[in-house]
Amino acid sequence: MSSATQADAENALAFLAQQWLPPTPENYTLAYIALTEPKSQIGRAVNAITEGGVRIRQGEADEIVTLYASENAHAEPASNNDAERDALRHQTIKLGEVASSAAAATGAFTRDLSAEAEGFAGDEARTVQIVTRMIERSRRAEEELNAAAKEVESLREELEAARDDAERDQLTGLGNRRAIDRHLQRLADGGRPRAIGICDIDHFKSVNDRFGHGVGDRVLKLVASSLAASCAPHFVGRWGGEEFLVVMDDEDQDSGMALLDAARADLSVRKLKLRENDEPLGVISFSAGVAVTSGDHGANIAAIHRADTGLYCAKAQGRNRVLAS
Ligand code: GH3
Ligand code: MG
Ligand code: MG
Repeated sequence: MSSATQADAENALAFLAQQWLPPTPENYTLAYIALTEPKSQIGRAVNAITEGGVRIRQGEADEIVTLYASENAHAEPASNNDAERDALRHQTIKLGEVASSAAAATGAFTRDLSAEAEGFAGDEARTVQIVTRMIERSRRAEEELNAAAKEVESLREELEAARDDAERDQLTGLGNRRAIDRHLQRLADGGRPRAIGICDIDHFKSVNDRFGHGVGDRVLKLVASSLAASCAPHFVGRWGGEEFLVVMDDEDQDSGMALLDAARADLSVRKLKLRENDEPLGVISFSAGVAVTSGDHGANIAAIHRADTGLYCAKAQGRNRVLAS
């Protein structure tokens, strides 16, 4: 955790002590947001009460938290939207940090109080009683915070899984257009050279026509796994329909073409049969175009267009081949 976050969490704890509010997870969250985002609705609501040295009461704090929770509930159905999901994710991570930092701080507080309670034992029974109660309260708060941190962690995992689902093609299990875009963007940001290949299954419509859509789907899955295995560790995504995009980082035109041509040859020599009746499926092959770039994301798009031209020529020249463009 950064020292800035640690300091924010400590300030939040100090704020709660100043306000005579117990360090419950809700109160921590309220204090943390009020201090780090004073212009937020929560920040303004807290400041409106505490301005001029007035203490905020637990009932008022609860009211603000309820208002905040209902704002969140309102935002949730739209979480398919990328920006909102990212915001939710960031908020979750921040809350996780707050909760675990607060738990650590409360733990230290408990230890300090325990040491003090021993010092008082014998001559100040009443003080010991008070301190012991405080220790108990603090211990409970620590437990609650640890539970909150666990909950937040599992929410974070769920969000990661949702993100993974949103970037995966359901039929083939490959990355979809969104994943392709993110991968290309990342390579462009790093300025790495890359060869981009676009592959299109030959005469795929006739597979559907002769054997039905279900077999067509199975062929699509097979081509996807064959391409992914042949091109590993390079990235293979489903570009759409019966088209796949292969992104070969640090490969030049010649090595990229050689790699894709080997993948093409691997697939086209397979003797595929229908599992129901052993009927031969015939040759399954693809045609591909390859183009290279080391430029920005705009250059990625231009390279995909060039690769597409190569693919078009490969089809025109009789299919089952890989061409550069
Ligand atoms: P070419 O060699 O010129 O590429 O011929 P083609 O038959 O492969 O090309 P065309 O674009 O005419 O047909 C592509 C077919 O792919 C049409 C479409 O129904 C089929 N297709 C696209 N997505 C899926 C899918 O998810 N499952 C199945 N079974 N078929 C699909
Ligand atoms: Mg096509
Ligand atoms: Mg095709």
